[in-house]
Amino acid sequence: MTVAYTSPWMNEELNILRSSARKFLEKEFTPHIESWIEQKCVDKAAWLKAGSAGLLCASIPDQYGGGGGTIAHETVILEELERCGIGIHFGNTIHSGIVAHYILAYGSEEQRQRWLPRMASGELIGALAMSEPGAGSDLKSIRTRAVRTPSGYVLNGQKTFITNGQAAGLIIVAAKTDPGAGAKGVSLIVVETANCDGFRRGRNLNKIGMQASDTAELFFDDAHVPVENILGPDEGGGFAQMMAQLPVERLLIAISAVAAIERAVEITSAYVKEREAFGRKLLDFQNTSFKLAERATEALIARVFIDYCIQRALAGDLDTVTASMAKWWLTDKQSETADVCLQMFGGYGFMEEYPISRMYVDSRVQRIYGGTNEIMKVLIARHL
Ligand SMILES: Cc1cc2nc3c(=O)[nH]c(=O)nc-3n(C[C@H](O)[C@H](O)[C@H](O)COP(=O)(O)OP(=O)(O)OC[C@H]3O[C@@H](n4cnc5c(N)ncnc54)[C@H](O)[C@@H]3O)c2cc1C
Repeated sequence: MTVAYTSPWMNEELNILRSSARKFLEKEFTPHIESWIEQKCVDKAAWLKAGSAGLLCASIPDQYGGGGGTIAHETVILEELERCGIGIHFGNTIHSGIVAHYILAYGSEEQRQRWLPRMASGELIGALAMSEPGAGSDLKSIRTRAVRTPSGYVLNGQKTFITNGQAAGLIIVAAKTDPGAGAKGVSLIVVETANCDGFRRGRNLNKIGMQASDTAELFFDDAHVPVENILGPDEGGGFAQMMAQLPVERLLIAISAVAAIERAVEITSAYVKEREAFGRKLLDFQNTSFKLAERATEALIARVFIDYCIQRALAGDLDTVTASMAKWWLTDKQSETADVCLQMFGGYGFMEEYPISRMYVDSRVQRIYGGTNEIMKVLIARHL
């Protein structure tokens, strides 16, 4: 960006993290992105390397093997993932920013010690399974059942669209422990896939974008889970736990949207200064320069807004409405920006080897997952 602006939450330590993350990703991730897209998942070895480099569970306390940082650390890592061209393809947002935090917030000390250090090292990949074929936006209507027996919980049901679902060794599953109790009948049960009879992964789903991210169907047919794998002291707390964590999940999506907006403006500005038509640089056409001027302005507005949200999260008071505003507005802006920028590349914008084409398709899902943008507006409108 031409405008000098530094996020108020940045500091020297985060600058060091940024430069070491950038070096690591350029060396260990960038050369492999195409093959990960081809195989529809990131190599397990990359998770382990990211763990060794301190890029996993950066905001989890060091006593559990994490980096001892905050959402600011997760933000820097997310921004660098976007910059290196893998962005939302690497399922670290779900793994470090979400699943690890459910365990930190609701897990017992024994559960934290058991799972978090292996998540921080990349040995154990995390997933969060809420959505089902018949229930996405309307989470209260999930049908997966967890029945308490003397030997633990028996799970029956199906989940779909689960990020990291193929690779995950640890899956937090939203299930009904009391189907008659509405929202109060939902519990979160941790499935350790290595020892779970009755658990099965379905297809790695074919998607139009976000190709290197594995997205799975999961099946539970009398799947046995030890009773101590429930998150929280009592049954029935799951819905409230999800509602409490969703603002940060939405913030993380919005953070990656802003990083993508900034990158789109940056690479498009560079392109239109080089490419010529009718004997002039593309930037010399007023349509091009005005449209980019508008997008650069919006990128700065997006940055200032996201910094406000990050600061609220750092202070521990990011509310549902603000997080919902950030998620819908910034991901809508991301899609619009990718579309306008792609147009400036002409035919090259439609070619896979030009990053803007991937940014265009990847932007689309940001308006759907983590709660659709329509649901964000429902949440905002409820508080008008
Ligand atoms: C790539 C990808 C990764 C995902 N990862 C995960 C994951 O890791 N874990 C997980 O649990 N889920 C995941 N999801 C699922 C995602 O969260 C859901 O797709 C999303 O919440 C929408 O649910 P749905 O697909 O069932 O759509 P529906 O709920 O059927 O909605 C369909 C349409 O109706 C609209 N609509 C629904 N209700 C209302 C309403 N009250 N008012 C206005 N409009 C409404 C929606 O906005 C949408 O446009 C992922 C999805 C994708 C595509």
